[in-house]
Amino acid sequence: MKLAADPLCQIRTHCKGMLPDSVAVEVDHIVPIARAPGLRLRWDNLQSACRACHQAKTWAENQGEA
Ligand SMILES: [Zn+2]
Repeated sequence: MKLAADPLCQIRTHCKGMLPDSVAVEVDHIVPIARAPGLRLRWDNLQSACRACHQAKTWAENQGEA
């Protein structure tokens, strides 16, 4: 559902400037579920992400929790 509404990457940290815009293939939780389980199903906690941006964000989050 989220990818249908926002088919392009919304993070843009690793695909900025790419043409055409990166197509989102994953849905990211803006606030990680590990920190806010109650936000898991909240529409406004979702953003579409391409693989590169999503992996980078997830990696950074994991580093912060280590
Ligand atoms: Zn991206």
